Order: sequence, then structure tokens, then C-alpha cells
Amino acid sequence: MAKQPASTLISALRITVHGIVQGVGFRPFVYRLAHRHGLTGTVTNTTEGVSIHIGGPEAALAAFATALRTEAPPVARIVRIESQPAEAVTEPSFRILPSQHGARPSTQIAPDIALCTDCRRDISDPGNRRYRYPFTNCTNCGPRFSIVERIPYDRPNTSMRHFPMCDDCACEYHDPLDRRFHAQPNACPVCGPRLSWHDSEGRLVDGDALALAAQALANGKVVAIKGLGGFHLAADAGSEASVGALRHRKNRPAKPLAIMVGNLESALRLCRLSTEEVALLTGPEHPIVLAELRQDTGLGHAIAPGLGHIGIMLPYTPLHHLLFAEPATPSALVMTSGNRSGEPICTGNEEALRRLRGLADAFLLHDRDIVTRVDDSVARIMDGKVRLLRRARGYSPVPLLLHQPTEDILACGAEMKNSFCLVRNNEAYLSQHIGELTGAEAFDFYTESIDHLQTVLELIPERIACDRHPDYLSSRYAQRRTAGCRSIQHHHAHIGAVMAEADLDGPVLGVVLDGTGFGGDGTVFGGEVYRADRNGFTRLARLAHLPLPGGDRAAEQPWRMAMSLLYQGLGPDALNEDRQPATLALVDTDAKRLIGQMLIKGVQCPLTSSCGRLFDAVAALLGVCLASDYEGQAAMLLEHQAELVTEAEAAPDYPVVLGEEQGVVAIESAPLAALLCRDLAAGVPVPILARRFHLWLAAALEVVLLNARQRTGIDEVVLAGGCMQNILLFETLARRLRAVGFSVHAGELAPMNDGGIALGQAYIGGHLCV
Ligand SMILES: [Zn+2]
Ligand SMILES: [Zn+2]
Repeated sequence: MAKQPASTLISALRITVHGIVQGVGFRPFVYRLAHRHGLTGTVTNTTEGVSIHIGGPEAALAAFATALRTEAPPVARIVRIESQPAEAVTEPSFRILPSQHGARPSTQIAPDIALCTDCRRDISDPGNRRYRYPFTNCTNCGPRFSIVERIPYDRPNTSMRHFPMCDDCACEYHDPLDRRFHAQPNACPVCGPRLSWHDSEGRLVDGDALALAAQALANGKVVAIKGLGGFHLAADAGSEASVGALRHRKNRPAKPLAIMVGNLESALRLCRLSTEEVALLTGPEHPIVLAELRQDTGLGHAIAPGLGHIGIMLPYTPLHHLLFAEPATPSALVMTSGNRSGEPICTGNEEALRRLRGLADAFLLHDRDIVTRVDDSVARIMDGKVRLLRRARGYSPVPLLLHQPTEDILACGAEMKNSFCLVRNNEAYLSQHIGELTGAEAFDFYTESIDHLQTVLELIPERIACDRHPDYLSSRYAQRRTAGCRSIQHHHAHIGAVMAEADLDGPVLGVVLDGTGFGGDGTVFGGEVYRADRNGFTRLARLAHLPLPGGDRAAEQPWRMAMSLLYQGLGPDALNEDRQPATLALVDTDAKRLIGQMLIKGVQCPLTSSCGRLFDAVAALLGVCLASDYEGQAAMLLEHQAELVTEAEAAPDYPVVLGEEQGVVAIESAPLAALLCRDLAAGVPVPILARRFHLWLAAALEVVLLNARQRTGIDEVVLAGGCMQNILLFETLARRLRAVGFSVHAGELAPMNDGGIALGQAYIGGHLCV
């Protein structure tokens, strides 16, 4: 008998798809895919995810299996696909079977996803019944996580329960081949939520809310806009007066503000965007993307003073699209979080009218409740990869699959940029950005979010991990929940987060550069190199200690660190007014004298190896930033200065000097004082000095890591900590390390700042061998 050609061999597979695959149009997608490849069988929702039994020629099955992953609907988030040979398919065609829900419903919830092109067409088409309807969505787009009250994810369990579907919407909802099949937030102008326009006192004003909002923005007003996961304060980005008013009212004199523009063309006019950045900007998540601002736009001064990058995003809800479609709307809008500094972003109408009174001149509201607060995510392409700096809308609550076994655990996170993490069945649910855990409102948001995610995941873990800092509110929360809480050192958790994401079990060499980490030995950590695995860590090297005059206050006044570096490098005489570099002349003389005395007497001067504070010292010494208006400002300004010249222009390098204290290698920063003062006095331009400092730091870390590799034989390197958000430092370091044979890993979906800490706490605290 003649052998059959391989392509016509008939076989069958049973495929289970795990992840966020229900209520996201997955079964219709599988149906269409099977028909396209001429395959037969069935697809159904199960408690595990989506189960597919499929048969046909082997080549077609292979193509189907590939497309299952590569062409999945935009809202779906596949965590794992299991595929095994199965009994022959007897179905004559391909069918969607009803859901087989067991005792436990599927508890995965999709993130909020930006408006899809099909829905965008609907709202732009005067003949469509959803023309200009700001709450249009389908299975491929729209709100999810932000509107869910409880599981299972069905309309009655979301804030859409107040809007019974009209007949037309119900037809779409029940038709397996309709784009709105099982789209829980499905709505139209007949049955769905509506906009309203309110004056500064909250009084309802009649008229076309979108047109009125556009006109107000054009007139320079600050408008509070209720969005997807919270409120924004919006203003004309091109008007210095409007942006100035917004800054004044929010008490944010210099902090960079994110902007939204109507479309990609506008974004390209303002920013230099790589192909990867365009993909990120226009992808289903639609985060704020940090991108290089073009010099000739005239926006930089108001939006991001002293910086070369801005945060830019595109409209992600139909409401935003329709706002930009209004002829009066300015071409770029500042869209900053609708909150007062230090408080969480507002979500409720009454709350916004109360808390944003005085900040906003008018309010664009709607009557669909935001159940879960979700800020805009912030992402940047660094070293060729998408890296989240704030993980929220579009990404939460998608789990990361942990390949190394990890116990079910709640990890409580850190204090700044807090997020927490729940691990269930080796899936790590890193929460949305909670923010600074310092006030009562933020703490309420934190505990409510933990309760909410525990409810959604039907999990109250016995095991709990927290930061070793005893005074963090997150640590206190953890201690209250259990006496047997595992406290994880801050930097160990930073390294653990990267290990979790990169599927590393250790040991690794971990470089952690940040502002302040609780060391436990009376000093403030923040520029360290460790040997670490999931069981523990050893410090191999650090930045040499600098005194921190006045403790935490020093972070707000970088000039204090400049004094500290001068003292450390050049001795007490360097603190005399007439010996100081001219760049410090603007600082009050009495204040400088006081700090000088503190340094000389060693009073209120804890020691720190913080990299953030070393950046402060150099930025202040160069006159780039004497006082800081927001966290990280000095480092960001210094980074921008350094980017103004090339590496070649900055030559020659400053030499790297290493010392040793109690078996730990110290990278000596004190010699920088003399070098920088010498070059400043010689009139070397500040950008060159800023660049030399970045290169010096990267070179020093490279030398330390080469030594460490020799001692330990480890060539896996993890880079972490808030200072790594400095793209110049990060990319320089990663490139140099790779060039000498290291494998370099850093956070991608888990932020490299403290927003990723909870993942590391969970990975280390949930290690089964602890
Ligand atoms: Zn859609
Ligand atoms: Zn309807």
C-alpha cells in the first residue's frame, strides 16, 4: 500500500488553554481558526480555561496550534497551553459547546483594554447605532478589571448591572459569532451609561457634554474627566497658562506631566518614536510611554522641565477618542492623575466633586461606576525590551506564571510605589499600582484592593511576606495578619522579582541601585552588589559610605549631599564658603554652615551607600539640581544633561578606585569630589561631567562584577532598583556587562522600582525550601 504523504496524516489533539481566556471572545476565535484550517472538533469553557478537541491533517493542526498563540484575541492573556494527542474526532464540523462549569467558576479577570479598531469605526460612522457613543466596547476591548465587583465575571457582578441591555445589545451578546458575544459591558446609547457636564461647584449643566468639555479645554480650563480606572485632570498642554494653573493647584512645580494626543501622527510630531515605541503606544494596553521629546515642539518647558523625555499616550477609551474628535479640543492635553498630592486617584462622582473642588474648573462625568481604581501604566523601551515603570491599567490583574514552585502567599510590598502580590497555584498576581502608602486614604485603597483580589481569586493565604522595614504600613499590616510573617530584605526582594520573572533559581549576582533600603545595620543601603538565591544573600560590594546630613531630609535637598561628598573627598576645609564650587552659591549660607557643622561633628549623619543620594550629590555639585521638587528629580536632570553629549565627547574616563571594608568591596566615590571640582573650575561643560559620572558608575560596577564572577563563578546578573530607570545608566551597564560575557536580566512586567518588590517578596517568601 502506498505511504500517505505526511501532510494528509489525520490525527487529533486535546488542547487546554490556561489564562484569561473566558469572556474575551476566545471560543469564537477558536471556531473561526478551526474553520480556516479545515479542522473539525469542539471548543468549550471549563473550570481550567478553554478546552479544545480538534482533528485533521497534521500540518493544519500544527498551523492551528501556532495561530492559537500568535493570533489570540487582544484581551486574552494566555498563561499556558497544554496539548496532547487525543482520540479521533467524530464531529463532522467544528462546534462551540456550552460552558461546563463545575463547582468552582473560572476566576480569571481580564485587564481593561484600549478601544479596538472595529469599535472605533462604529463610533465614527454616522450610520452606526453607536455613532459618538462614549461607552462602546466589545469582547476585544473595553473595561474589565475596573468594573468587576465579584466573581464570576458576569454582567450582574459588574457596575454594568445598573444598565439592563436593550434587545439589540442582547442579540449581540447571545450570538456566538458576534463581536459582542458575552461582552459583559456591552452597551449602546439606548441602554448604557451617559455623560454629563458639571460646573466647578458640581452643578449639572445642560448641553452636549463632549462639545462643552472641548470648549472649556480650548478656553484654558482645567477639566476633571472621569475615565476608565479613575479621574484625570486635563488641560491644554500647549498653553503655558493652563499647565501653570494646573501645576499651581496641584502643588507640582516641576514634576513631569503625562500628555495625551489624539492619534499617532500627533505623537510622532512631538516625539521621536522607534518602531517598538509605536507598537507599545498603539498596543492593546495603551500605556503612557516615556519617549524622547523633539526639541522644536515648545512643549518641554511646561510639561517636563529640564528633561528630554515625556510621558505620552493615545486615547484608550471611546470617550477620549470622541473628545479629540471635537474640533475645539487642543491637539495635546495634559492628563494627570485626578487626585491631590499623596492621595489615591479619585473614582466616584461625589468623591471627585468633593476632593477635586478647587483643582478643576469643570467636570466631565458619567454614570458607570469605577469599582477598582486603576491608574495609567507607564512603560519605557529600555535595552530593547518593554519595561513597566508603573504597572496598572492594561496589565493588572494578569498573572505571571512562576516556573519554580512557590507556595500560595500574600506579599505586602514596600512603602513607596506600593503594589502587593498574591500567588495562587504558581501564578503571581502582582496588583495594580497602589502608590505611596503614607496616608489614611492610600492605606484604605491598599487594604480594599487586597480584600478585592483575595475575593476575586478565592484565596486567603496563610503565608505572608513583607519588607524588613518595621515601620512601613505594609509591614505593619502583614504583622497584624500573622505573627509568622516572613520579612524579606528590601534588596533581596528587588533581586527576587527579577529572578521570578526571568525564571531563575539562583545563585545570581544582583546589582541594586536605589534611594533608600533598610539595611538593618544602622546604615541606609542603596548601592549594593550581592550574591543571592531564593534562600538568602551575601553582600559582596557597595558604594562607599557617604554621610546623610539630616537623614531623610537630605533626599529633598541634594545640595546637602554635595556638601557630604565634598567633605568626604576633600576634608572639612572644602566646606568653607570660599572654597566651595560656585555652583553651591545659591544655597543659603547659614544653612550650609549648619550642615557643615553636622558633617564635621558627625551629628545626625547616618551613613549611606545609596546610589540615589550619590546622584543627588553630583547633580547638586554640578549645579543641575540644588533642591528637589519630586522624587528622583536630581538624577533625572543629571541623566538628561549626560544625554546631551556622546560617550566619545566625554572622554577621558574618571578612574575607578576600589577599597574594602569588613570583607565588602567599596566603590570609592570620594575621589569624584576633587575630579568634579577641578573640571568645573576648568570650565568643562556640565553635560560632559554628567556623562563622565554615568560612565564612571557603569565602569565601577563592571569591575566589581568581574571580580565577583572570579570569586563565585556566577555569570547571571540581575539589575534592579529605582536608579536603574535611568536609561543611560541601565543601557550602558547592560551593554558593557554583556560584552564581557554576563547574562543580564532586569524587570519587564514587574517594575524595577519598588513597584516590583512584592513579586520578589512572594518568590522568596513562598520558596518551598525556606
Ligand atoms: Zn471593540
Ligand atoms: Zn443597547
